[in-house]
Amino acid sequence: MTDCVFRTKRGASPPPPADWQSILAHSVRSPAELCRTLGLPASLAADAEPAADRWSMLVPHTYLARIRPADPADPLLRQVLPRAAELATTAGYTADPLAESHAQCGPGLLQKYRGRILMVTAPHCGVHCRFCFRRHFPFDNASTADWQPAIQTITADPSIHEVILSGGDPLSLSDSALADLADQLAAIPHLRRLRVHTRLPILIPQRVTTGLLRALRKTRLTAVTVVHVNHPGEIDADVADALGRLIDAGIPVLSQSVLLHGVNDSADILTDLYERLIDLRVIPYYLHRLDHVAGAAHFEVASPKAAAIVSELRARLPGYAVPRHVCETPGGTSKELVA
Ligand SMILES: *Cc1c(COP(=O)(O)O)cnc(C)c1O
Ligand code: SF4
Repeated sequence: MTDCVFRTKRGASPPPPADWQSILAHSVRSPAELCRTLGLPASLAADAEPAADRWSMLVPHTYLARIRPADPADPLLRQVLPRAAELATTAGYTADPLAESHAQCGPGLLQKYRGRILMVTAPHCGVHCRFCFRRHFPFDNASTADWQPAIQTITADPSIHEVILSGGDPLSLSDSALADLADQLAAIPHLRRLRVHTRLPILIPQRVTTGLLRALRKTRLTAVTVVHVNHPGEIDADVADALGRLIDAGIPVLSQSVLLHGVNDSADILTDLYERLIDLRVIPYYLHRLDHVAGAAHFEVASPKAAAIVSELRARLPGYAVPRHVCETPGGTSKELVA
């Protein structure tokens, strides 16, 4: 598969860069280039341009290499290629479906649930998922390299036991910035756990560096990672290795996925995904219903179909391999279980 992408008709391309920061920096940002590389019709790129002008496209080569060439219906492609449908307005789909602007309790801090608080640590991601519920989030106002106000808020509230690093993708920060943040958080006596919500180990497995493992291991806090993964085709040998490195370092890895029309809305695909994850020792945690964010209505899976898929998963998989199927309602005291 990699051959199709990196070896062009003009002959062998230079080898792709090996460190994650270069891989991220060399990501494909133009729909025309993506379609050309994958042998897709130029009309798809033309269709993508207006949506990409609203929210840019971002696809690292390490992810691109897992997309089947010349297949407009590829489930990985559908997650990253902008579409004209994003510009449609649909009743009930809004810029801030989870009312996160009301959950802000400081710059870059969101608290919805007791005992845990979410820090928007980085405005960047390793990909722009077209269904992202934070696609309209005002990152510029929320995230800051200065952690002090957030640290002060958390220090002042002894009921908070767990900090969730989110974003954007917190692993888009450098190892030293993460180690520094972990140190500052570990100095807060009532904090017990540090959770990292990330998609980067799936997109660019090279992100799981020894420096990252060291930072997560050496903190006094119990570190837990939750990786966002939606389709078994996203897990190649390098991703499997990266997840194994985290787990071998003693860091529990859980998964979260979004149920997406045309991507993973089938019991066969999700059975594959969850079998693959438990084989790799990753515990499926959440299967999210799509948040109704403006521009993502074409990813919606109707509730009866979602319920049928989840009951099929329960019939096929060991109990611990079936994630909780949840949705989020603004103002709820936790994610809410759906059928
Ligand atoms: C989803 C979410 C969490 C995590 O919830 P858990 O059920 O603990 O996984 C925490 N804070 C916010 C703001 C969230 O959106
Ligand atoms: S990685 Fe997560 S935060 Fe980033 S675009 Fe995708 S869904 Fe959104």
